[in-house]
Amino acid sequence: MPELPEVEIASRQLRSWLSGRRIVSARALRSRVIRGQAQARFAGLSGHGLLDVERFGKWMLLSFDDGEGLLSHLGMTGKWVRRGASEPAAAWVRASLELDDGSALDYRDMRLFGRLIRGKTEELRQAKALRALGPDPLPGIDVERLHAALVRTRRSMKEALMDQRTLAGLGNIQVAEALHRAHLDPRRPATTMTREETARLASAIGESLRATLRDEDSPEPITYVEEGGENVFLVYDRLGQPCSTCGTPIERIVQGGRSTFFCPTCQPRWRGRGAAGKKARRRAPARRLRVPRRGRSRRRPLAARKRR
Ligand code: ZN
Repeated sequence: MPELPEVEIASRQLRSWLSGRRIVSARALRSRVIRGQAQARFAGLSGHGLLDVERFGKWMLLSFDDGEGLLSHLGMTGKWVRRGASEPAAAWVRASLELDDGSALDYRDMRLFGRLIRGKTEELRQAKALRALGPDPLPGIDVERLHAALVRTRRSMKEALMDQRTLAGLGNIQVAEALHRAHLDPRRPATTMTREETARLASAIGESLRATLRDEDSPEPITYVEEGGENVFLVYDRLGQPCSTCGTPIERIVQGGRSTFFCPTCQPRWRGRGAAGKKARRRAPARRLRVPRRGRSRRRPLAARKRR
């Protein structure tokens, strides 16, 4: 799935394909990607030349002359690909920009979780989706700010880092990789982090992002690991495979409905103070009470307890 490194690579590709070029025709098909916007708004990009491609977390803002803009989010399966304008488009193309050099840029998205939003650049820059983002970690992380954001929440480290307000652009892959590099338990309550551990985590996030960028950068569109692309990651999607540091098989748990991969040796279980630790201790004896008994009906239903 596209996260910060994949979107950074996509923005570099778009910049190189579009710079100095003029759009000769633009169209968007009716799909969830444009969320009810008029197709004519996309056609209105024709005649405009690119000024810049900026990335904010997992969003890209393409700005064109006369103040025209296009906001792009790749969702789960979105990607921009280039072809000759006379060549047939591939499957799942939701929008196309034909350029004055005889090429066409297609936005492909099989699962339709991506977004394309047309508007004036300055309005798009103020969009709620962008204003809600925390700082981008690629240029460097402010450890004090990150620490303040983490100790403010009792959520797990995994969930706190997935929140785009903490840092913009991290997703399931980068969070797993960074927590592994920092030797931190993904279940640990964020509020228990020390300043030193936050500093270690900040370095690990930077290392993970740079390693992925180095491994995936190419002039060709990326094949995401979920699509059968090469797995360049240390723990992500490596259930049962030996940890590259210590050889322990990688484990998988589910947090917030999403898979988390980690090494149980390099990232030992957090057993200190904090909500998750207490909850785990409270819940443990309850598991043995399998037989229905008097008074059971006053307890919360099983499904409700499982969700906690
Ligand atoms: Zn390990």
